[in-house]
Amino acid sequence: MNILVLNCGSSSVKFQLISTDVEEIKNDADRKLARGVCERIGGEALITFEVKDGKTSRTTAPLRNTQAAVEMIIRWICSADSGIEAIKSISDIHAVGHRVVHGGERFTHSVLINDEVLGEIEDCIDLAPLHNPANIKGITAAREIFGVGLPQVAVFDTAFHQTLEPHAYLYALPYQLYRRHRIRRYGFHGTSHRYVAYRYRQIKNIPRDAVNVITLHLGNGCSACAIKAGNSIDTSMGFTPLEGLVMGTRAGDVDAAIIDFLAAKEGMSISEIESLLNKQSGLLGISGLTNDMRELLAEAEETKDRRAALAIELFCYRARKYIGSYLAAMCDTEGTTADAIIFTGGIGENSHAVRTRIANGLKCFGLELDEARNQNISTRKEGDIATDDSALRAFVIPTDEELLIARDTVRVVRGVEQRY
Ligand code: AMP
Repeated sequence: MNILVLNCGSSSVKFQLISTDVEEIKNDADRKLARGVCERIGGEALITFEVKDGKTSRTTAPLRNTQAAVEMIIRWICSADSGIEAIKSISDIHAVGHRVVHGGERFTHSVLINDEVLGEIEDCIDLAPLHNPANIKGITAAREIFGVGLPQVAVFDTAFHQTLEPHAYLYALPYQLYRRHRIRRYGFHGTSHRYVAYRYRQIKNIPRDAVNVITLHLGNGCSACAIKAGNSIDTSMGFTPLEGLVMGTRAGDVDAAIIDFLAAKEGMSISEIESLLNKQSGLLGISGLTNDMRELLAEAEETKDRRAALAIELFCYRARKYIGSYLAAMCDTEGTTADAIIFTGGIGENSHAVRTRIANGLKCFGLELDEARNQNISTRKEGDIATDDSALRAFVIPTDEELLIARDTVRVVRGVEQRY
């Protein structure tokens, strides 16, 4: 099946076209046919298309909304310009898989989208007011273009974390607030944590219930996940993606009393403070320079910028603290805990310096990085970067959320059991 994977944001649409089916999934024989992104939708949009051999074309065009962007993507996929031999017309696209950020407590797996499901995704808008409306626009645009007959599947960022138990997902707030408003930890990046846990299982050739790992998705957004017997038992993002690790522009954990204090001292409104915590904090806020880890590492190295170095230190220290707390959270009565830490995301996959800084503080838990392995692992490659003697292992596994979305789409459409 040719699956169009759509990730629709408030002003962007990312896509991939992936050819896969039940047999291909079994044999890891999925084929990526194309990918691209339309940015700055609503005005003169920036459009980037990349075909399989890595060739990229960049153009601009006025795109007034998500539907116009999806139409443009499909036109390009079907055109001779794309060079995709498998696609001659729109009927060669067999299903659409959508990344949907929030599935609330309702969705524990990926689902075929019908009117009822669409209504339930709408019901989650309160919980993700920035993300779910954009995802819904993508779904309705695809319905308009392909008609209701084409299967569309929703794959939720929150679904993987629905295995958290109440002691892990509840905040210690008055319980009726959970009852009334469903205020709880939902967790995000679920498709990424799930994907790398699944790859780990394949690399180690072990069954799902033998997967005991801590996954670190370190990108512009960052989250950690404790995975025990294959299930997410805790994760650092919470009611929203603001909580937890230090991120590019998000603060991660802060004392909630700071909000009131800031309002009083700086005369800021709640929404200004929310914006400060989400958009002006994290690596950017500490360094005063950038949210980009690569640039910070260069600044710290080349100009010895002290705040760049401090931002990196805060970032790595917070990650280390989470790993320590998850090793405790995962420890059972026999005294066993996680077998490995897995690094993924733009920073986790690409920065040996950040991995070293995080791992060096974990020697007391038996983790010894092999520096040669750590530094030599090449881009988009996976592998074990700990020494042979290290009791706790460390892996780099590039994430591939789109592949998992395509595979879930096939499984839902074919009625095959989903592997969570
Ligand atoms: P993502 O959101 O997963 O695309 O990750 C984006 C982050 O990864 C940015 O902070 C980038 O600076 C960072 N990144 C990408 N490549 C590298 C690299 N080679 N070294 C350090 N950070 C990197």
